[in-house]
Amino acid sequence: MRDLPAGAERLAGDTFYLPGPTNSGWIDGVLIDTGPDEAAYEGRSFDRLLITHGHADHFACGAYLRRAGTLVHAPRDDASLIENPEVNIRGMFSWAKPGDLLVTKLFRGEPCHVDGLVEVWDDRRAAAIPLHGHTLGHTGFLTADGVLFTGDALYQIPIWERHPLPYCIDPAMVTASLERIRATEFDVLVPGHGVPCSRQEAEAHIDHHLGELRAIEELLVERLKVEHTTEDAIALVSAERGLGDNAAQYWLAVTTVKGFLGDLLGRGEIEFFVRDHAGWWRTA
Ligand SMILES: [Zn+2]
Repeated sequence: MRDLPAGAERLAGDTFYLPGPTNSGWIDGVLIDTGPDEAAYEGRSFDRLLITHGHADHFACGAYLRRAGTLVHAPRDDASLIENPEVNIRGMFSWAKPGDLLVTKLFRGEPCHVDGLVEVWDDRRAAAIPLHGHTLGHTGFLTADGVLFTGDALYQIPIWERHPLPYCIDPAMVTASLERIRATEFDVLVPGHGVPCSRQEAEAHIDHHLGELRAIEELLVERLKVEHTTEDAIALVSAERGLGDNAAQYWLAVTTVKGFLGDLLGRGEIEFFVRDHAGWWRTA
């Protein structure tokens, strides 16, 4: 057996996972995402690190591992977020420069060079499964032992209680990704946050996630029968979902609610117009 991260637990065959605030995986020398704790990897050797997406809680030890000789692979559309976390921070604020107070720690992180793209990853140990929508390039990995690491593509039911409006840039893409998870042959699913679960449990989590997305859409379509500005649409969804009033949560909600507004607009369910120099939305 090659080097394992300290504290890794076997799930099936050669596939292990390291439980933590961000779960990470291992199969025969390949790491999938990293937790925050460098000590788990210290003095050990890993030939590749596959990163699901460009949020710092999923590549926390990427630069550390690369300095120790691990080659890093990431999705094309997320590679720039990993190599330069400032891109994420700027994107959140429409490319202007936000003050430090506004930025969630999920968008900070040590920059890490990306050696290869998962779109051309071809290796018997794990297959890349495109699961876009949480970020543009978000990708899951299915190991040869039938363990599917889904990063932040699927939130398990208990996560919704702590994070009632989880970050999502494109709900239509997330919906398609949840159906792709359902259509993928796996025995065990490991989410980025939460606990490993069976296929049967995963089905229930997928149904719940889809139901939450629908509930947010229905809330907007119903409440926008009375026209609202973008700012008020963000506030009404945040209030309904029970978010706290703090800057980091607010700015994540701005992106997520805009994701829903853009989706509904694209489907012709709501309309957008400008009045008195503000953007307004109303149900079509
Ligand atoms: Zn994420």
